[in-house]
Order: sequence, then C-alpha cells, then structure tokens
Amino acid sequence: MAGDNLVIRSARLRDHPEGLVDIAIRDGVIAEIGPALGVSLDNQIDADGGLVTVSFANPHLHLCKVYTLLMMDELALQDYHGEGMGKAMTAIEQAARVKDHYDAGWIIENVRQAMALAAHYGNTHIRAFADVDNKARLEGVKALIQAREEFRGIVDLQVVAFAQDGIVREPGAEKLLRQAMEMGADVVGGIPWIEYTDADVAEHVRICFEIAEEYDADVSMLVDDAGDPGLRSLEVMAVEALRRGWHGRVLAHHARAQALYPKPYLQKVASMMKQARIGLVTDPHTGPLHARVKELLAEDVLVCLGQDDISDAYYPFGRNNMLEVAFLASHLLWMTTGDEMETIYDMITTRALAAIGRQDVRLENGAEANLVVLGQGTILDALRFHDAPRAVISHGRLVDQQKMKKMAKL
Ligand SMILES: [Zn+2]
Repeated sequence: MAGDNLVIRSARLRDHPEGLVDIAIRDGVIAEIGPALGVSLDNQIDADGGLVTVSFANPHLHLCKVYTLLMMDELALQDYHGEGMGKAMTAIEQAARVKDHYDAGWIIENVRQAMALAAHYGNTHIRAFADVDNKARLEGVKALIQAREEFRGIVDLQVVAFAQDGIVREPGAEKLLRQAMEMGADVVGGIPWIEYTDADVAEHVRICFEIAEEYDADVSMLVDDAGDPGLRSLEVMAVEALRRGWHGRVLAHHARAQALYPKPYLQKVASMMKQARIGLVTDPHTGPLHARVKELLAEDVLVCLGQDDISDAYYPFGRNNMLEVAFLASHLLWMTTGDEMETIYDMITTRALAAIGRQDVRLENGAEANLVVLGQGTILDALRFHDAPRAVISHGRLVDQQKMKKMAKL
C-alpha cells in the first residue's frame, strides 16, 4: 500500500526546540528533514511551530469491554476501587457478569467508536485484550480481529487472546486460547495472579508460554494486580521467560502489588525484568495503587503507560487519548519537572512502541511516517492541554480526522 506524498512545514522537534524544520514524506516514508525544504509535494501541512513527534501508542486496552459500564451495576467499581484493593478479585467476578450477554455483533460497534477515538487523538498503535473464557467464548476475539482489519493502516491493532477469568480455575480456557490463536489473535494473554494457589499460578504461566511457543507469539500478562504484597506472579513469569529464551517478547501489565514490596525484592524483580527484557505497562489512573515507576526507571527497566479501560467495570472514563493518560500519570506519579515530563512523553510514544515490539517507529529518514502534529510547541503545553493533534499521519497516510470524529461520536 503506497502512502501519501506530503510535507509538514515549520515543525518543532523535541531535540531541536529552537529552530523549525520541514519534514518531507514520500510514498509514506520520511524522506527528508531540514529547514525550509525546497520540495513541492501533493499536500502541505503547516505545523506553525507546533511539535511534531512520533505518534502515540497504547500498549494496554481492554477493547472488548469498552462502554460496558452502563451494562452492569456499580458493584464491581466499588470493589475494585475500595481501600487497599483487597476485593479486586471479587470485582473481576462481578465484571464477568456482563459477559453472559457477549456477542461480537454489539461489541464491534463499541470497538469501532474507541478505535476512531484513538485515530482522532493520534494513537496509532494499540495492544488490545479480548477476553477468552467460557462466558465471553471467542466473541471478543472475533470483534477485535474484525476491527483490526477495518482499521488497517489507520490504527495498528495487536489482538491479545486474554484468559481474563483464569486458566486452571476456568476449565476450557486453555482450549479457547488455542482456538483464538488459530483464528488469528497476535499475542497470548494471561492473568496468573488470580489463580487459587502458587502451583496454579505457575501452571497458568507455563500454559501461556507453551501456547506462545506453539504459535511463535509474544506474551502479555496482567500480574500482581491487587493490594497484596505476597503476590509473586511477575517473578514467576520472568523466570519462565528466561528459561524459555523468550527475551524481549514478554510484557507485564499492572503489577500494582509492587507498591507494597520491600525494596530488596523490588530490586530483584527489576533485575530479572532487565535480563529477560520484560517491559511494564502501568496505568496509575485506573486504581489506587501502582507499580514503582520511578524506581524501575532508575533501574533502566522499560516502563510505559496504558489507557487500560474505557468506561467499563474497572474505570468510568477514558477516550484513547494518550496525552490525557500522560497528564493524569504526571500527577499520580508526581513527575512534574521538565525532564520527568519528557520521560512521561516517551512513555506514551517511543517507550510504549518499544514495549509492543515497534522500535522501528521513529522520526528519522527512511522510517514509515507515523507522526502527530501538535497544536502546542512544548511538551509542557502538550500535556497541559492534552488536545487532539492538529494532524495525524498513520502508516504513511494522513488520517481523516473529521471522519474519525464522526465515527467516534464526538
Ligand atoms: Zn488492565
């Protein structure tokens, strides 16, 4: 698929904030970057001094559940957000009730709306979880695979077949996971910490890696997502990744129990994550506890931010706007110095892309153009206003933001 020919005029780059440059894009690839380029291409975008960076990525979204909040009672939300998150597991059981009515026919409508929001907000790469269990069956996977095809070239979707209700405690889930991979899911997803015993946690992790090996797929797992300092599933997953040589192919999500870990244990886990090149997606806005981001960054672990949810049993807000996620994280992690804001911005762009295996998305000659043209000239103001970008270029093409806005019902 050939991309567009266009030139972005008067762009401000993060590493050269003082001068403005033009960026020429030919056949969807960044061809030239420099001041006042003498090129004439089909389309011109005037950045007018606004920042141009690589586009945003959301490495964690429960996409089959978006907008299901109104379909269930408030009970689940109360349990998940209650003090200390002691009842987080009960919340998952409550949320499972909506799945009695799972059907790809209505799920796809919600998914399209959330995907259009993503495109509008310059969020061009998403790793999305589809629940796979005896209630949801393969309906979520069906809807997400359909959306992946519909949005191809606009929002790149990695579909995670996700055993939300467990594997050992949910007989039949293992078979469904294999069927989901057979249907074309991209990533094997687990949630080992919700199993009943330590042995079951290990078995859950083992099964996920076995399926990942069978399908040569990456692994994404929600780990240690409750206020219990005894949770150890990230460690179990890291050991499995190291033993199987799945380096750089495993992503951890949540790890909220880290908030309660003693420092020496946190350091041990951090060093295992580095060895196995396991990244961590944190979503501090969707729960009262969160992973130890600053300490992990200091240890040079790949940490990034995710949206997690959009109006479901776990979180009432969300609009696939990663600048909004970053704005919230800046407060919740208390990362408000200039340097920290730059890091936060990396956590929704380059670091988030690296976490899902897309290190190739860069603002440099020869790279496919995945860019946002922001209305603001500094990271501070980009975070402050968290507006939709002035223009979004995805997979080498200019996104029709008006069309996306309409689809997103904005
Ligand atoms: Zn989640």
